[in-house]
Amino acid sequence: MSQFEARAFVGNEPVDAADGQTFETIDPATGEVLADVARGRASDVDAAVDSARRAQPAWARMTPRDRGEVLQSISDAVAEHHEELARVESLDTGKPLAQARGDVATTSRYFSFYASLADKLFGTSMPMGPGYLDYTVREPLGVSGQIVPWNYPLQIGSRGAAAALAAGNAVVVKPAEQAPLSLVQLAVIARDAGLPEGLLNVVPGLGAEAGAALAGHPRIDQVTFTGSVATGSAVMAAAASNIVPVTLELGGKCPNLLFDDCDLARALPVVRNAILQNAGQTCSAATRLIVHRSLHRQAVEWLMKEFAQVTVGRGVDDPDMGPLITSRQLEMVSGFVESVRSEASVVCGGEVLTDGALGRGSFYAPTLIDDAAPDSRVAREEIFGPVLTVLPFDTEEEAIRLANGTDYGLVCGVWTRDVSRAHRVASALRSGQVFVNGYGAAGGVELPFGGYGKSGFGREKGVEGLNSYLQTKNVCVVLEELA
Ligand code: NAD
Repeated sequence: MSQFEARAFVGNEPVDAADGQTFETIDPATGEVLADVARGRASDVDAAVDSARRAQPAWARMTPRDRGEVLQSISDAVAEHHEELARVESLDTGKPLAQARGDVATTSRYFSFYASLADKLFGTSMPMGPGYLDYTVREPLGVSGQIVPWNYPLQIGSRGAAAALAAGNAVVVKPAEQAPLSLVQLAVIARDAGLPEGLLNVVPGLGAEAGAALAGHPRIDQVTFTGSVATGSAVMAAAASNIVPVTLELGGKCPNLLFDDCDLARALPVVRNAILQNAGQTCSAATRLIVHRSLHRQAVEWLMKEFAQVTVGRGVDDPDMGPLITSRQLEMVSGFVESVRSEASVVCGGEVLTDGALGRGSFYAPTLIDDAAPDSRVAREEIFGPVLTVLPFDTEEEAIRLANGTDYGLVCGVWTRDVSRAHRVASALRSGQVFVNGYGAAGGVELPFGGYGKSGFGREKGVEGLNSYLQTKNVCVVLEELA
């Protein structure tokens, strides 16, 4: 018997797949099976959508304050189950325990942040002059389908679910097949914290089965997807057949820009962490270092030394860096690095790690690639592993051109002591989020997050994240003249 809850969660209870089928979720550090997970298919998605549909009207009619109180209870319960959730997340994704603990803290924060907004979904009134009273009301869409990737199941699942629920929607979540365990656990915790039946359903399964069934389901009202560009495009096409709005968050090739006047000692540790967090498997990982030529050598030497000292191991043993999510992801990353050796210098790393126990898992060395041509694949394409590409520049214009030189536009870091330059560059960057003299803000729950270009569209997180789950109704009253 598995030690993990690995069934789907539909209505108010964990349930097996209708046909009893399961799939294995694997510990990426050891290759061992963690659990046999319910393999949801179209009929299981149907049942979850039906349960959500039944539950949603009463939830939407509940006073916003009461709705907020339920969400706050979920936030508190997540905090109470902190260690247990962090351990499951670390085992299933392979990420270091300290990072999984951060994910759980952020998950709790999503529920408290959106709890506090449930009674602040204000409308407006329009001055139409005598004879009219006009106002808007913001209403929930109905049932939100959420398709979640494997890199941050709890964080990504909760940022969507908490916002959708606060706005009065019901939710059906399809976690990634590589790391489904924590979201099933979250649904149980939410129920025990008082979330009424049917509002948060979780159907694990394969992308082509449960994922496709949810994206194209005729009785959902909205889809939120995070993952690859190719799958995002397929999800959008499926939702289009039902004229259903989508929010897409599709990754990036994010840069840190280091200008010659920056505080290098402050910047470099952030540059290191922004690529190594979750072994580089983060949509907002800063995978490019765009550095002024005067700092280039110093930065590369510092990073080479740091990368060589990174401890790598099983996530639950809390090393600096864990494994990649699957052997397939390991093959993709190492294959990519091998394919660019002729167009750039791999100055450190660039190898699969197989020493001792590492040989059982999917471990890749922290890798630094220097002297890449600006139009090379390694400078433009997402790798999704611990691989940092260094691109030197001479002028501000060149730095901006390099930063904007990919199809993506999710997050940028700008490092300079010159206030005018900071704002000038921030304004010129094609990017949904810009940090100045930093990169990331403790989960960034409060900050609108989303992409330009192929990084997707729609915004999650922050107050703006609620817009994906609301529609505006305008009510125009024609007043009778006083007789
Ligand atoms: P993916 O986009 O295929 O999977 C993401 C989610 O979509 C999973 O839940 C999956 O089951 C589901 N899915 C797959 N096919 C589907 C379909 N036809 N309809 C509906 N849902 C479907 O990503 P992947 O194959 O796991 O990873 C491949 C690459 O995607 C990675 O190497 C990385 O570049 C990128 N990626 C990006 C993010 C991100 O945070 N933006 C996360 C994971 C992966």
